[in-house]
Amino acid sequence: MRQVLICGAGVGGLAAAHRLRRLLPASDRIVVFDQSPVHTFWPSLLWMMTGARQADQVVRPLSALRERGVTVESSAVTAIDAESLTVTAGDRRWTGDALILALGADLDPERIPGLVEGGDNFYTVAGAEQVHRRLAELERGRVVVLVSRMPFKCPAAPYEAAMLIDGYLRKRRRREAVDIAVWVAEPAPMGVAGPSVSQGVINALTERGIDYHPHETVIGVDPTTKRLKFQSGQTVDYDLLAYVPPHRVPSVVEAAGLASESGWIAVNRHTLETSVPNVFAIGDVTGIPLALGKPLPKAGVFAHAQGEIVAKILAHRLAGREESASFTGEGECFIEMGRGVAGFARGNFYAEPEPQVRTYRSGRHWHGAKVLFERHWWQQWW
Ligand SMILES: Cc1cc2nc3c(=O)[nH]c(=O)nc-3n(C[C@H](O)[C@H](O)[C@H](O)COP(=O)(O)OP(=O)(O)OC[C@H]3O[C@@H](n4cnc5c(N)ncnc54)[C@H](O)[C@@H]3O)c2cc1C
Repeated sequence: MRQVLICGAGVGGLAAAHRLRRLLPASDRIVVFDQSPVHTFWPSLLWMMTGARQADQVVRPLSALRERGVTVESSAVTAIDAESLTVTAGDRRWTGDALILALGADLDPERIPGLVEGGDNFYTVAGAEQVHRRLAELERGRVVVLVSRMPFKCPAAPYEAAMLIDGYLRKRRRREAVDIAVWVAEPAPMGVAGPSVSQGVINALTERGIDYHPHETVIGVDPTTKRLKFQSGQTVDYDLLAYVPPHRVPSVVEAAGLASESGWIAVNRHTLETSVPNVFAIGDVTGIPLALGKPLPKAGVFAHAQGEIVAKILAHRLAGREESASFTGEGECFIEMGRGVAGFARGNFYAEPEPQVRTYRSGRHWHGAKVLFERHWWQQWW
C-alpha cells in the first residue's frame, strides 16, 4: 500500500485529495490532516458581512471525506520532516510516499498593537459575523477597511468588502451618514494584474464615494479613542474597523526549515515540487516569484488548480508513467461590487514580462456566476 500525506484540507488540499482519490487505485491511501474539523469556503465570508450568508452556510464537516475513501486526521500537524516524508500529527508519526503541503497562511493580528481589541478581522468567520452585527446597528460615522500588511490572500477581498458595505448601507438608507474609507499597505489594488485592473478598481471605489488611501502601513490602533496610526504620520478615526490582518507562514513550516528567503515555501513553479523530491507545496503557503518582481497572488483559484496538477503529477509518478501536467499560471477572479453586481478578470499570471489579465464589463451576471460557483463548490465535494 502506498500512502500520500496531505497537510491542510483547505482549498488546495481538498482539490488534491479528491483528484488523487479519482486517479489512484483504491488500495493506495490518501491521508488529509487538518487542525479544524470543518472546511470553510472563504469567499462567502464577504457575504456574511452584509448578512447574505450565516456562519452555518460557509462551513462543512471534513469527516464527509471519509465516505469518499479519504482518511481524515483532525489534528494539528506539529512537525514535518521533509527528507523522510514524515509528518507528526496528534500523537502519531506518519510516513508517506509523497507529501503535499497545503497549510495556507496563518493570520497574525497580534503583530499590530491594538488591532485585535480595536477592530474585527473579517478573514475569520467570527470576525465577518461581527462586522455584520455592527453594520446593522451603525447609524453614522466612519467605516474603515484596513489592509495591515503585504502579502495577503485574495487581492480583491478588501475592495470587495468596501463596495459590499457601501451597497448594504445604501439599502439601509444610512450611506449618507456613514463615510467609507479603505486604507491599505499596498501601492495599488490588485497590482499584479496590471495598471488597468488597478485603475478599474479605483474607479469603482470613486464612483461609490469610497475614500482610497494606498501606501499606508498601520503601526498601531487605539481601541479606546478608535484611532488608527500609520507609519506616514497620518491618523484616522473610525467607528467600525474591518481589517485584513498580517499573514505569516505557518510556524510548523518555519520550524521544519522549509520557508525560503521570501518567507514562504519555494517550489518549481510548474510542478509545485520543493527542493526535496516527492515533497510538494501548493496554495498560500508557497512563494512563487513572477517576472515583474512580485509574487503570484495568494488566491483560492491558484490553490485549487495547483492541487489538481500535483495530484495528476503524483498519479503519473506513482504509476511509473511520464509526467505531463504543468501549472501554467492561469487564473480568474470575480470582484463583488455590491447591490448584486460584480466584475470579472481572467488571465495568465506567468506571462512575461508581466501578467496578461483581461477585465470584463461588470454586471449582475458575474455576481450570479459567483453564487453558482459557491453552489458548485459544495456540490462537487459534499
Ligand atoms: C474573505 C476571503 C475571501 C476570499 N475570496 C476569494 C475569491 O473570491 N477567490 C479566490 O481565488 N480566493 C479567495 N480567497 C483566498 C482563498 O480563500 C485562499 O487563497 C485559499 O483558501 C488558499 O488555499 P490553501 O489551500 O492554500 O489554504 P487554506 O484554504 O487556507 O487551507 C489551509 C488549511 O490548513 C489548515 N492548517 C493550517 N495549519 C495547520 C496545521 N499546523 N495542522 C493542520 N492543519 C493546518 C487550516 O486549518 C486550513 O484548513 C478569499 C479569502 C478570504 C479570507
